[in-house]
Amino acid sequence: PAAGGKPKDQGSFEIGLKDAADGQVVTRFPPEPSGYLHIGHAKAALLNDYFARKYNGKLIVRFDDTNPSKEKSEYEESIKEDLLLLGIKADEITYTSDSFDRIYELALQIIKDGKAYVDNTDLETMRAERFDGIESKCRNQSVEENLRRFEEMKNGTEFGLTCCLRAKIDMKDKNKAMRDPALYRCNISAPHHRTGTKWKIYPIYDFACPIVDSLEGVTHALRTNEYRDRNPQYQWVLDALRLRTVHIWDFSRLNFVYTLLSKRKLTWFVDEGLVSGWDDPRFPTVRGIRRRGMTIEALRQYILMQGASQKNLELEWDKVWALNKKIIDPVAPRHTALDSDKITPVKIVGDAVATEVKEMPKHKKNPDLGNKLTTFSSELYLAFEDAKTLADGEKVTFMDWGNFDVVKIQWSADKSHIVLIEVKINPDTDYKGTKKFTWLSRAETGKPESIPVAATLFDYDYLITKKKLEEDDKVQDFVTPVTEFKIEAMCDANIRDVKQGDIIQLERKGYYICDRAFDAANPKENVHLIFIPDGKVS
Ligand code: ATP
Ligand code: MG
Ligand code: MG
Repeated sequence: PAAGGKPKDQGSFEIGLKDAADGQVVTRFPPEPSGYLHIGHAKAALLNDYFARKYNGKLIVRFDDTNPSKEKSEYEESIKEDLLLLGIKADEITYTSDSFDRIYELALQIIKDGKAYVDNTDLETMRAERFDGIESKCRNQSVEENLRRFEEMKNGTEFGLTCCLRAKIDMKDKNKAMRDPALYRCNISAPHHRTGTKWKIYPIYDFACPIVDSLEGVTHALRTNEYRDRNPQYQWVLDALRLRTVHIWDFSRLNFVYTLLSKRKLTWFVDEGLVSGWDDPRFPTVRGIRRRGMTIEALRQYILMQGASQKNLELEWDKVWALNKKIIDPVAPRHTALDSDKITPVKIVGDAVATEVKEMPKHKKNPDLGNKLTTFSSELYLAFEDAKTLADGEKVTFMDWGNFDVVKIQWSADKSHIVLIEVKINPDTDYKGTKKFTWLSRAETGKPESIPVAATLFDYDYLITKKKLEEDDKVQDFVTPVTEFKIEAMCDANIRDVKQGDIIQLERKGYYICDRAFDAANPKENVHLIFIPDGKVS
């Protein structure tokens, strides 16, 4: 199904949640509106949606808008659209910022309970102390002092701005996430896109998330297992605030080879102009891979197939593209494109061939796709790549037509191209040639159904040169110099009717998605077709 519902192929996986009662389950997908959704986010969103539907429960999409310096309404809108595109319908849309008052009250409560303190230690010292398990000089301040300082943070005073609120847990805990993590920070760098300048302090994700999960009635919080170290902290916050508990269900983070799945790094590519935007076909964003020809169905199947796997692998792209190919192959109409470079004229000599337009199936195995118009005539084109392999006297098959004998090949004087190939019909219908070539008529009928359409075929390479970027690798050092490749081609006239987003197959070339359709008002503008990877390792 394209929208909502359960995936078609559920046989290969069966995943469940602990203590999940039918009709009671509430999951949530908490994107930060600081970029466009990528395929990793799609995994998180699809899994949350899967469980909400499986148990007839509810899915909350919560904008985790706790960092005003990175967030924009533009991103929020795009995330909403992309979720719909993925077939995910939120039962409720919420914002962490809607809970700022409540979270603030809970911060006061936790301070009054002596379980948090306001620290003005500089960041570097704090980091070192956390590493070495040393308690901060502020750790045993009185509750009154902490409340006074927290008020300064709230007012954004000069002193307040140097502080953060920290949980008082255990500076000796083996799990460093438990060494008095920060709960609130000041941020006056930019107004919040929803609360404006009301707040100068913002809760840290690790504080806000368990609170809002609990307040919103979430029963099962899905988290990537890279956060496993932070699960005890999540539980600590709930316990310290005496809030209703939430089950945590870990899943593995999705990673692909040669692929960046970090909004910060993707933003860099956009800002540097190395891609055309967040929907660039080289981008692993939902929009990017859609533009490259990935179907939502393939994406859903792929992600749900991995289900509960805990392995954090760098996945190859081949499998998901191969899955995609299985989905598009039965429904992709077949068309012809010949590379324009040195395109080779052919003339059929001997028996006369009348120029005629015939209806041919768009897909031999799928009559539902209807017919296309193919012009037959004695004047043809072959791609030079094909034509140059021919020799005088050789037999050749022209696809969807028949067999021919090469009579004469006339090369240019400098042997750089072929001026003309003369062929004649070979009536031997049993003959199965090894050379089967695509061709186009070059008859000048003046009728639109016979005029080839000029297209640019795009293909892309990975944006980065390293399989897996490590944390300290600088993206700049691993940018692939050239990642876009273009070929000019001549296509059959039926390409006029292909719309933007349509997926077709160009015979003997592969699958393509139309990125810019033919425009009758601007017939000189090339159609843009983007090659869809098919999972074949090249
Ligand atoms: P990024 O590093 O791209 O900014 P993020 O985790 O900071 O990712 P969020 O908007 O906070 O981005 O993510 C929303 C949800 O998507 C979170 O629950 C997060 O765990 C999940 N998520 C993000 N990246 C991946 C990934 N590569 N695989 C699976 N889930 C992911
Ligand atoms: Mg995040
Ligand atoms: Mg991140």
